[in-house]
Amino acid sequence: MSKYNQVEQVEMNYEKDRPKAKNPLKIEDLSLRDGHQSLFATRGRTEDMIPVAEKMDQIGFWAVEVWGGATFDTMHRFLGEDPWERLRTLKRYFKKTPFSMLLRGQNLVGYRNYADDVAKLFVKKTVDNGMEIFRTFDALNDFRNFEAVVPVIKECGAHFQGCICYSLTEPRLGGDVYSLDYYIKKAKALEDMGADSICIKDMAGLIAPYDAYELIKALKASVKPMIHLHSHFTSGMSPLSHLKAIEAGVDIIDTCLTPYAYRTSHAALEPFVMSLLGTNRDTGFDINALADINEILERDVLPKYKHLLDDTKVSVIDINVLLHQTPGGMLSNLVNQLKEMDALDKIDEVYKELPRVRKELGQIPLVTPTSQIVGTQTVNNVLFDTPNERYKMITAQVKDLCYGLYGKTSVAIDPEVQKKALKGYDRGETPITCRPAEVLAPELEKAKNEIKDLALDDEDLIIYALFPVTGKKYLLQKYGKEKVPDAVKPITLEDVAKQKEMVEKAKKGELVEKLKIKEVPEKSGNIRTFNVFVDGEYFEVGVDEVGGFPVITHAMPAPAAAGSASPVRSGAPLKSASPLPPPPPKPRTAPVASAAKPEPAKAAEPVGTGGTPIKAPMPGMIIRYEKKVGDAVDEGETVVVIEAMKMENALPAPVSGVIKAINSKSGDSVARGDVLAVIG
Ligand code: MN
Repeated sequence: MSKYNQVEQVEMNYEKDRPKAKNPLKIEDLSLRDGHQSLFATRGRTEDMIPVAEKMDQIGFWAVEVWGGATFDTMHRFLGEDPWERLRTLKRYFKKTPFSMLLRGQNLVGYRNYADDVAKLFVKKTVDNGMEIFRTFDALNDFRNFEAVVPVIKECGAHFQGCICYSLTEPRLGGDVYSLDYYIKKAKALEDMGADSICIKDMAGLIAPYDAYELIKALKASVKPMIHLHSHFTSGMSPLSHLKAIEAGVDIIDTCLTPYAYRTSHAALEPFVMSLLGTNRDTGFDINALADINEILERDVLPKYKHLLDDTKVSVIDINVLLHQTPGGMLSNLVNQLKEMDALDKIDEVYKELPRVRKELGQIPLVTPTSQIVGTQTVNNVLFDTPNERYKMITAQVKDLCYGLYGKTSVAIDPEVQKKALKGYDRGETPITCRPAEVLAPELEKAKNEIKDLALDDEDLIIYALFPVTGKKYLLQKYGKEKVPDAVKPITLEDVAKQKEMVEKAKKGELVEKLKIKEVPEKSGNIRTFNVFVDGEYFEVGVDEVGGFPVITHAMPAPAAAGSASPVRSGAPLKSASPLPPPPPKPRTAPVASAAKPEPAKAAEPVGTGGTPIKAPMPGMIIRYEKKVGDAVDEGETVVVIEAMKMENALPAPVSGVIKAINSKSGDSVARGDVLAVIG
């Protein structure tokens, strides 16, 4: 045993004769998926990956993660990009490095368990489009949720990487749920399922260095597949934990290229390349080649994304993970959710309620989608509960969880909470114990009948089957049946330069002068509006290129606190470690005033109509109306289902009567307080 445990230093002249290491550390690069998902709200565009793709292919990565997680959702929803096309395009540039994706088990790349027929077709088409490694996880670590996808992964000849979500109930590894024994048992179960490698997925950066050492040592001694460590930087511990994992003999670690590293993302690759140089775990990577890539990214790509970086804090470490174990992405979700409800003063109550809700819901790991399920329910409890009644507004997903639709929880769900959640639940009031997908009817035929020939191939069909509302919207845009909204169009480096120039002028007061002298020109239909944030000030800048010149239509400073210090509308989980893509950014043409404060109800108030309104209790998107105008409803019956932070909330009729008005439709975004329907 050397003084570096399993890391041995080799005597050499680094320049001339860097020997190939005996057991080189394998690296998976996450820049093109988890990196931009964690730092830039998954907004990375394919066109911005191409400039470095061929160079990245030369580095020698074990794999590059390019797909899965939130990318599928974000691309079709916010970027106007076909997620399948990204795979095919990148494949033309990455000729030798295998592609890896994050697959949420039976949740695929969505937020609920899909039926087996959808799951199987999804995996098959994903392989057809170029995927090679399936990093597969289940938020509850219930591996029955792998049973549909794993045989297809194997049949297709792809690599099945089984994940164990790393969770804790104590500050460190141990306790009666998430002990060393728990992880070893899970790893053995994955080995039995035929895992080609096993990944510890530490989504919140909770793994401490010495726990990482102990865990990796134990796993290496207990199972044969390669061991892979995925640990977010969020808490600041991950580089230390990786190094201890390397000493313990970990086979593969995940890193990002420097511009995509740290904060809620991952440790940077380059320090590892240097630290291991000349040891028996030397990566063999060329640090100069990496520097070239970083230079291209810094110069040509990142300026377009910088505005998405949450720069409200100087610190790169999120101390809350160490204090409350609330993952960074989840925390920003909660904060934004409270902000939208004008209830940010309740954050301490949320911190207190969160572990309680988690425990009552079965002490589950917090990762997409369970982090959203627990987080949103916690916020609902804090906002809507009364002193004598808890769980007053239970989301559809909590009901599903209580029914067993996500799988088996780590410990039993609190029976009272479960009973309350399942009262009147449409699948039945007795929870299931079987593999969840066994109770799900096939979905593909139904989807085919609904989407008809708007889906030209299986890939289109899957977009719709996974995301019926936003997927359909995207397909309409893809085939020119609906206009592509400006908000989804990319910004260019020229745009960035223009924004910068205008902000400078605005700050000097030059724009105001100009506006006084000149008449404000009419806005053309081509106007592009940008939110620009500088030193805590917020500018909205409209750019209109009619006549070949950018014309300022208005540029008004507003306090950054008015919306949120982010260019997307508040409510956006900007730095998701547990990665839900944020809700749609406010259309760029929206005036500042409405971005800051939601307009009051856009529909006619019921005053004078004699009706009772159903108002949106939170901002969100209409999923569906369960009633139409003229229908009779009983008090308590669901009238409309609204999605907020990806969780569905059924809004009941406050009184019995007849639906007199319905003011929105499926897919519409609504503000808090909007009247969604009127009962007369
Ligand atoms: Mn991750």
